[in-house]
Amino acid sequence: MQRLGKNHGGYRGETVEIEKVLLDIQQAAAERNWTRDPVPGPVEFIAWRRAVPSPRRRVYLSTGIHGDEPAGPLAALQLLREDLWPGDAALWLCPCLNPSGFALNRRENSAGIDLNRDYRHRQSAEVRAHAQWLGEQPDFDLALCLHEDWEAHGFYLYELNPEHRPSLAESIIDAVAGVCPIDPSPVIEERPAQNGIIRPVINPLDRPQWPESLYLIAQNKTRLSYTFEAPSDFPMATRVAALAAAVQAALRWL
Ligand SMILES: [Zn+2]
Repeated sequence: MQRLGKNHGGYRGETVEIEKVLLDIQQAAAERNWTRDPVPGPVEFIAWRRAVPSPRRRVYLSTGIHGDEPAGPLAALQLLREDLWPGDAALWLCPCLNPSGFALNRRENSAGIDLNRDYRHRQSAEVRAHAQWLGEQPDFDLALCLHEDWEAHGFYLYELNPEHRPSLAESIIDAVAGVCPIDPSPVIEERPAQNGIIRPVINPLDRPQWPESLYLIAQNKTRLSYTFEAPSDFPMATRVAALAAAVQAALRWL
């Protein structure tokens, strides 16, 4: 599969009209009996919940925290439309945590804060509101955070699994490999990687800045999280397919 070769010094590929994507998400979710859950604050965003009669697992999905990573919200839309969720999984979905960043096609919010580094000190209104909302939700059996990386040579993922529960990572990579190249690099983002899998050994208290996934672990909101990174120098359809396949595989194997 050919790379686009567009990304020099940052993401230079296709952008989305986030308002339109979020309207499409709203329509798809409402038609399939998801409950709308506005997260109030200076920058309101919408969370969605899918209840099932007797849930055996609770899964949290979030994306759109970096405004230059459009495949995440598009993957959320595709997953909602496909509607292939396991019957026993209750789901919580935040399809766009950084609306003001998307309007500018930039990673940070409109105030210049990287929201995915702000979960320890919570200086942004978005992260404060999101953290409060998370505190009102039950604990999750699994958390999935959907991202893109403009420098990546293929799809890769981070696993945070402090109790060494059965890993889903290899099954996820196998599923994604059918639709998107996997990043073969032995080092990704300065961490050792193997076949697109990074397993950072992290004590949250040693880290001055927390991404969303680390906050979820540190707060015991979940004990198993995956951050998916689609390679944003590849065609949009490939990146969306990669993220959607990763979510489906994680739910299938949980
Ligand atoms: Zn990101």
